[in-house]
This record gives sequence, structure tokens and C-alpha cells, in this order.
Amino acid sequence: MRVAMVSEHASPLAVVGGVDAGGQNVYVAALASALARRGMEVTVHTRRDAPGLPDRVRTPSGVVVDHVPAGPARPVPKDDLLAHMDAFTAVLRDRWERRRPDIAHSHFWMSGRAALEAGHPLGVPVAHTFHALGSVKRRHQGALDTSPAQRLDEERRIVATADRIVATCTDEVFELRRLGADLDRVTIVPCGVDLDRFRPDGDAEPRPGGRGHRHRLVTVGRLVERKGIADVVAALAGLEDAELVVAGGPHPDHLGGDEQVAGLRSAARRGGVAARVDLRGRVPHEAVASLLRSADVVVCAPWYEPFGMVPLEAMACGVPVVVSAVGGLVDTVVDGVTGLHVPPRRPGELCRALRWLLADPARRARLGAAGVRRVRERYGWDRLADATLRVYADLVGHRPAELEPPAPVALP
Ligand code: UDP
Repeated sequence: MRVAMVSEHASPLAVVGGVDAGGQNVYVAALASALARRGMEVTVHTRRDAPGLPDRVRTPSGVVVDHVPAGPARPVPKDDLLAHMDAFTAVLRDRWERRRPDIAHSHFWMSGRAALEAGHPLGVPVAHTFHALGSVKRRHQGALDTSPAQRLDEERRIVATADRIVATCTDEVFELRRLGADLDRVTIVPCGVDLDRFRPDGDAEPRPGGRGHRHRLVTVGRLVERKGIADVVAALAGLEDAELVVAGGPHPDHLGGDEQVAGLRSAARRGGVAARVDLRGRVPHEAVASLLRSADVVVCAPWYEPFGMVPLEAMACGVPVVVSAVGGLVDTVVDGVTGLHVPPRRPGELCRALRWLLADPARRARLGAAGVRRVRERYGWDRLADATLRVYADLVGHRPAELEPPAPVALP
């Protein structure tokens, strides 16, 4: 099967951790590789965002990354990309007319728009994963939302016309329903974890003063306000014996000029915790597991979260998590079993949950072990690639005999 993935701003080859490079990049890279390992011919079309990039790159797993020329060959914030999407679509159409894929799988709304415009006239079925919905972003960010005004209408159009929406969690299905989705065309396939990289038994970054010195909390994510890192810094004021390591944001050499870093630093000073907060900037993805394993607890306190891969990565490393009970985190983290749920934007409650967990090493070990079991049973990429493949096979209409059709979404 020839699979064309479209991921306009999120290249599978990008360095993650910056403002516009995070879970989607990791997801596209991992899914594409897992499909290639199953013998699919996979091409990922992504915008060329640097002048020196080759037109096409073959990754070690056999995935071809096609750098589509559309707009300037430099990074462009994703909220300014729409102006270049017609050019992107034209290139895609040209590529697909020459060599028609069996299926297109688009990621994020602008890719969905491009894949439908280029693919449907050629009879290519389109599966779409939103990764994030403009309607949710608008609800939470209001006037601060810098997405193009057309985003909401475009997303409704994708919901109405894509052959299948691949939702990543239950909460997203409710949101899709609000947008008028026909549930027969929605399948849930969660994001996965690289189980070879994120495992309990690898190295853990050494801690200054050793493990007995003070507790360590770790949070990993792009430094955008909605990730709630300021709430974690505020919670730290009530945890006298803990330090907080924050991974994510600009390259470590450029922390000085970053607005979010400056805001977090001054919040830490105001809260009297500056000496216990270590803002690292972006950490290479290869180094994230070792950092997670050095933590007593991993905290993810977003205001909202379309999926949230970091808690799964932490659970896979055997570390208990404290998460906001929002979005995908409600599905992935079992409250009281693999971690704790707290309400978003409530540093006081976050502090209480952390204090309770930090007070009891046996409880942490129990939750950590349950997290490993849960992730290994449900969130390995091989399993999720099979589920995605069932969606593709269903759409192209030649389902291999051994693959059952995807289960319809059942909602109460
Ligand atoms: N990440 C990383 N280095 C960083 C910050 C983040 O490798 O400095 C990775 C992290 O391990 C995870 C992804 O980026 O795989 C973030 O995904 P998540 O779904 O948690 O958040 P998103 O970026 O999609 O909002």
C-alpha cells in the first residue's frame, strides 16, 4: 500500500521542543516508521523550512520525507502558514498525479485542507488526524488565539468531507460531534510511545546531591502558556523539599531572549522558588527518557491538551504522573492507579496532590509500575500502527483477510 502522509508544519525530521515542534512531529515520525516496518511505502510531505534541505530524504526506517517548496525556505510560524498552503496543495497535486497514493493521511487542519483538495479529485481517500482543534483553542484562548480566522470553517469542512477522522481520544470525539461529525466516519486511535526508548530500566540523569537530597519534579513540553508550567512553578512554593526541572522551549543557548522563559523566571522569583527551578530549554528527544527517569513525579498541568504524549512517556519509564484531567490525559492516565488527576489551573490542588505522592515512596512505586503495564499493553506503536492500518485498509477497500474492520466508536 502506498501511503502519503501530509504534515505541513511538523516534519518527522525536526528537532522537537520549540514553539511549533512537539507531539505531532514525534507522532508522524513514529507512525510513518512503524508503517514502513510493515512493508508500506510511506512518503511524508512536509514544507521545506530551510534552504539546504534535500528535496527528498530516506530515513533509516525506509520512510521518504518530501520537502515541499511552498513559501520561504525558512521557519514560518504555523499560524502564518495558510498563505502558502495553495502552493503546497499545487505541489501535492502534481506529485500525486504522477504517482497516485492509495491513501492520504493528513495531520493538522491545513494539511487536511491540502490533502482533500489534492486527493479527492484523483479518487485518493483521505484519513485525517486533527492533533488540535481550533474550536477548543478558541474556547480556551479567546482573543489570544492567533490562528487564522478561517480555521474553524475549514475544520468543519474537513469533518464533513474527510473519508475518516482518526481521533486520538474520547474527549476529541465529543468535540468532533459538536462540529457535526458523523460517528461512522470517526475512529479512535491514540498516540503511542516508543517502548524501546521509554522504558523503566535505562539510565537516569544523575541528580545533584543524589536522590536523597530533595525530591525532583520534571515537566516536559513546549513553552506555551496553555501547558500550565507557571501553575507548576506556583505549586512548588508549597513543596519545600522539591526541585523542578522544565524541559522545552528555545535552544539552551537562547533562553535569555525568550519571553516565556522570562515570565517563568519572574514567577519563580516572586514565589521564592527561583533557586529550585531549572529551566533547561529544549532537551533532545533522545535525552528525554533519562530525564524522566530521574524524576520522582512527572507533572503535566496543561489548561487543555488534545492528546499529551509526555505522560505516556513518563508512565512507560515507570514514573508516576500528576496531570490535569483534560483532553487525552483523561483516557491515558488512570486516576489513583497510574497517576493522579487534578483540575487544570489550580496550583493549590496540584500542590496537594504532589505533596501526597511525594510523601510516600511505596505509593509512587506502585503507581509507576502500573503505568508501565498500562503503556505496554495499550500504547506501543506497533499496536497503534496496526489499528491505523485497519483504517487505511477499510478505506481503500481491499482489507487483508486477517484485519478486522475498525470498531465503530461507541458513545453513551
Ligand atoms: N519533547 C522533547 N524535548 C523537549 C520538549 C518536548 O523531546 O524539550 C517531546 C516530548 O518528549 C514529546 C513531545 O515533544 O514526545 C511533546 O508531545 P506532547 O503531546 O506532550 O505535546 P505537544 O507538543 O503535542 O503539545
